[in-house]
Amino acid sequence: MIDLRSDTLTAPTDEMRRAMARAEVGDDVYDEDPTVRLLQERVAGLFGHEAALFAPTGSMANVLAVRTVVGVGEEVLCEASAHIARAELGAHTAYTGLGMRTWRGDGGGIDREAIAEMFAPDLGPFFVPTKAISVENTHNFAGGTVQPLADLQWVRSFADEHGCAVHMDGARIWNAHVATGVPLAEYGANVDVLAVCLSKGLGAPVGSLLVGSAAAIEESRIWRKRMGGGMRQIGILAAAGLYALDHHVERLAEDHEHARMLAEAVGVDPATVPTNIVVFSVDDAASYVAEAAASGVRVSAVGARTVRLVTHLGVTREDALRAREVLAAVR
Ligand SMILES: *Cc1c(COP(=O)(O)O)cnc(C)c1O
Repeated sequence: MIDLRSDTLTAPTDEMRRAMARAEVGDDVYDEDPTVRLLQERVAGLFGHEAALFAPTGSMANVLAVRTVVGVGEEVLCEASAHIARAELGAHTAYTGLGMRTWRGDGGGIDREAIAEMFAPDLGPFFVPTKAISVENTHNFAGGTVQPLADLQWVRSFADEHGCAVHMDGARIWNAHVATGVPLAEYGANVDVLAVCLSKGLGAPVGSLLVGSAAAIEESRIWRKRMGGGMRQIGILAAAGLYALDHHVERLAEDHEHARMLAEAVGVDPATVPTNIVVFSVDDAASYVAEAAASGVRVSAVGARTVRLVTHLGVTREDALRAREVLAAVR
């Protein structure tokens, strides 16, 4: 079976497991795990921010990150199919008590006019104030699309002008970086706070981080514990992340190439596939998924007529070639 349902399906490699087994550990709730501290410092540095915090999931990292800039009864603006709006089961509204309004962006992108029109200034005790704009890079449900740097810079300057913050859901920021060559620090420079995942294309079994100012991270340590996310000797998990940063970033280019190979087989122009995700329309997603699975390739339905496939560390070139053959025959 070739599994293209998600890049979360990767298993740690033998080398990664060895790095995990060797990790020096301590109690991370006491902030005494040296390997976690090393990972947090390294990731903060990559994005040019003061600090970072390990979180068990990307969803928790996003909830913690957004709540550093948006409070109860305030709102964040994001794209309509953003992961924070569609895929975190309402965590932001449930835990933080914030509101969300969405714009519909072409390819999950940034619609400058819509944002400018939706933005709500703080007018005192009458209206919900916009406190942050959230952008997803790469954009998952739009098909791994990359937010152009010029758009991110526009959001940064719009937010500065209007006194609101910028959050980035950078679960796959590594893919954006490898696809475009834009330095991670450049992405970091255009946001106040961001969340990144180690457990997707980078191939770690667990782990995400939020990245931001020292004050935001200090506050988030408390909230992480409050939410039940205070973990102990997790240097073994951080070691997987450090290993992934050393060995699994540049290779994402292979995943991108494999995704473009598969695009053609499902009727998508490869030129429109910048990273490792292909989203395409079919008549009936459920029956498409079943038929592909019966031929040995697993893909996922992400809508009634929408199917998604994702390439990753566990998909070899041989797998991609075989999946291409199988999918070309499914209709
Ligand atoms: C996977 C993902 C997350 C986090 O998901 P978890 O399963 O909670 O780790 C956040 N944002 C995007 C865009 C994602 O694809």
